[in-house]
Amino acid sequence: MTLIQSSEFRRHKLSHDVTARQNRGYVFLISRFDDDDSTMCTFGSMGYRDEAIKSGIGGVAPVTLASIKKSTKVKPTDVKHTNFADKFQEIGKNRVVVTNTQQGGAHAEELFLRKLPQMFDEYGEPRKIDIFVSRIPCASTSANWVLNTEKGKVLLPQGCANKLLAVIQSNPGITWRIWWEEEYPNPNTQTACASAMAKLSGRAIVKRY
Ligand SMILES: [Zn+2]
Repeated sequence: MTLIQSSEFRRHKLSHDVTARQNRGYVFLISRFDDDDSTMCTFGSMGYRDEAIKSGIGGVAPVTLASIKKSTKVKPTDVKHTNFADKFQEIGKNRVVVTNTQQGGAHAEELFLRKLPQMFDEYGEPRKIDIFVSRIPCASTSANWVLNTEKGKVLLPQGCANKLLAVIQSNPGITWRIWWEEEYPNPNTQTACASAMAKLSGRAIVKRY
């Protein structure tokens, strides 16, 4: 049975659909390992902030950011150095890229990916992972950061579609199925997301819900 056919899935989805209707911009992800409903987890998106926060199922550890996009008014004290970049650069009129040592909040996919190594510990390494996301994963609006896994550090690139691809490639023994529901009304945004997700096909089963 696929994730989306499960009644437990529909129960999870219905309760988060209510939150999504009340908060534009709220996106959630439901995951399940090996067709086992007892492994089902839901992750709801949270606004980005600088300080690390613990949230989600069992607490979510902060990540190490390679870079973060911030709006203007960046003070020199905001700039923190990491191994990945040693300065901030102008990338447009209103934005700069700033290196930061940690990030609080996340897109739903990022919360899921941060939690993944812990879920492997808890549920055992799965042969199959099913994921439902209430909106198509973004092509570039999440920053790149480092995922610590048992096998080592994985640098996850910008955009949740690209992050999913990097994790899928670093776990070749697992069959992934990914569904998304909403799409972006802006055709440029939607085209970028769809082509980022298209890179997953062949490596994962990707479908609109
Ligand atoms: Zn995203």
